[in-house]
Amino acid sequence: MGNTATPLSDRVILVTGAGYGIGRTAALTYARAGATVLLLGRTQQALNDTYDLIEAEGLPQAAVLPFDLEETDEDKFIELAGLIEQHFGHLDGVLMNAGVLGQRAPLETSHWETWQKVMQINVNGQFALIKHLIPLLRKAPADASVIFTSSSVGRAGRAYWGAYAVSKFATEGLMQVLAEEMENTSRIRVNSLNPGGTRTSMRVAAYPAENPASVPEAESIMPAYLYLMSPASVSVHGQALNARDLCAGLNAE
Ligand code: NDP
Repeated sequence: MGNTATPLSDRVILVTGAGYGIGRTAALTYARAGATVLLLGRTQQALNDTYDLIEAEGLPQAAVLPFDLEETDEDKFIELAGLIEQHFGHLDGVLMNAGVLGQRAPLETSHWETWQKVMQINVNGQFALIKHLIPLLRKAPADASVIFTSSSVGRAGRAYWGAYAVSKFATEGLMQVLAEEMENTSRIRVNSLNPGGTRTSMRVAAYPAENPASVPEAESIMPAYLYLMSPASVSVHGQALNARDLCAGLNAE
């Protein structure tokens, strides 16, 4: 069991989209908190770079899992879960962070192909992944945590956010359904977290005219990511949370 400085010691945490942006910072945060982090993402080199950052600090050795969530063959998800089980036996947490923005456009002119791609990665791939990771989370020796990544446009619809917004509504649905299913049948808690505007390449793509320096860095919201993944949040379940509110509340404690 971890202590205050390393609340995730001896825990195995999988982070999707761990090669860039919020996912990379979260992976490093979890490793600094003592976790063995499984780095999942599409681009092997980016995952290797996150791995090297963890190695350079002498933290628990991470593992690189190149995987494309656009995958439509369910067997590939089964193979992935089998590989994790073989090497680690179980999971204590999953940060479902990977996602794509797609096209900022009115629904009327949204491209069918882009719509399908966003839904495949942000919804269908996430479903297939978490479906096959649940048995590994059930094997956690203590509590386990699943964090889905939402957005403010996944909680109130907004013009021109198209498939991305709809996929984030679906993510909230996935969270709510899974949370009810895990309630009283497991020690797995399930929540969604909206990071809020954060300085990453996705933010630049969504707001090209904005000065990136005016947007907070991922580091600033890590207290929320750490809290939700660590045993301190064991009673938080089925909630749609905002990272900045959570950080403010944690600061006030
Ligand atoms: P980035 O674009 O920086 O990172 C997205 C990550 O998702 C990358 O690591 C990327 O890896 C991975 N990813 C994308 N497609 C796939 C795929 N097919 N298979 C596997 N991995 C994939 O975005 P952010 O860090 O900004 O976003 C992280 C999460 O936070 C997302 O869910 C986003 O919607 C959400 N969010 C972000 C906000 C912000 O202001 N930044 C605001 C609200 C929500 P690769 O490139 O190798 O595929």
